[in-house]
Amino acid sequence: MAAVAGCGGSAGGGAVPSTARAGASAATDRGGPRPPAAQAAQAVQAVAAAPAAPAVLPGPARAEEEAGSEAVARKAEAARTALETARRWGLARLPLPAPQPPAGRPELRAAQGVKLADGLPPVVYRVPTEQPIVFLTVDDGAEKDPEFSRMAAELGIPLSTFVADYLARSDYGYFRRLSEQGDAVNNHTINHRNLKVLDYATQRDEICRQQDQLEGQIGSRPRLFRPPYGEYNEDTLRAAGSCGIEAVPLWNEEAFPDRMEYRYEDQRLHPGDIILTHFRGTDLWPGTMPDLLRKVVDEVTAQGFALARLDDYL
Ligand SMILES: [Zn+2]
Repeated sequence: MAAVAGCGGSAGGGAVPSTARAGASAATDRGGPRPPAAQAAQAVQAVAAAPAAPAVLPGPARAEEEAGSEAVARKAEAARTALETARRWGLARLPLPAPQPPAGRPELRAAQGVKLADGLPPVVYRVPTEQPIVFLTVDDGAEKDPEFSRMAAELGIPLSTFVADYLARSDYGYFRRLSEQGDAVNNHTINHRNLKVLDYATQRDEICRQQDQLEGQIGSRPRLFRPPYGEYNEDTLRAAGSCGIEAVPLWNEEAFPDRMEYRYEDQRLHPGDIILTHFRGTDLWPGTMPDLLRKVVDEVTAQGFALARLDDYL
């Protein structure tokens, strides 16, 4: 089993075997905006599946056919644009489209990768789903690279971020813009301390003060919280629940600009996996944040998965 040292520490206890877990998601197909890459991939399929038009059609049928041709042409144009965007960012291939998110967040049941306790927010290493989707989460907040947020937006890749105040406070505007483009900004405490060694009151201050800070800076109160280093105890969950946290997502993979590290023995992604990475620059990493996103998207696509929005499922 590979060691995964997210946020500079090991989370432990989250590894789950590669066998399929019980319980399907309550995902349903509903309307709504789709990321450009998803629209384009559908358009490619639609173009391929479009029947050949007859040579001549009478009046009303011809009008209908012309309208249909316009729709096909629009989809083809969207597909071309998405392919150009993927090439411009250096992707090996077009990202796979995420399915429509569930109409409501599915209720979590006890399962592999989910730890439930009465009255406490659930701890989730892996979201229960049988769909080929995984989730990208980005922690801490030191590196605020505008190319990274632009790349994610242009490719339609959803992010869920977990921000520590002491790293983010030099420019909360960066995270506000991420939030405005649809990427959730969630809680990762004020000072990024190991909560497990702190008393309840201090833990509560670290978590709940960051709830207030993010509500003020970003404009919405986080629903998700991730403890630094993945280290927590019951006090952590009680404190988080007391100031509005609904779930505590951890992770089973960690991504770097040059590699992915897996907790599974088969060294592969599994449906519902949560991938951890960080807002880090070339001072700490052998690549930029766009290099990192390219690595993640190519790896996820090559394994037949789509990146979906964690906050739609938890
Ligand atoms: Zn961290």
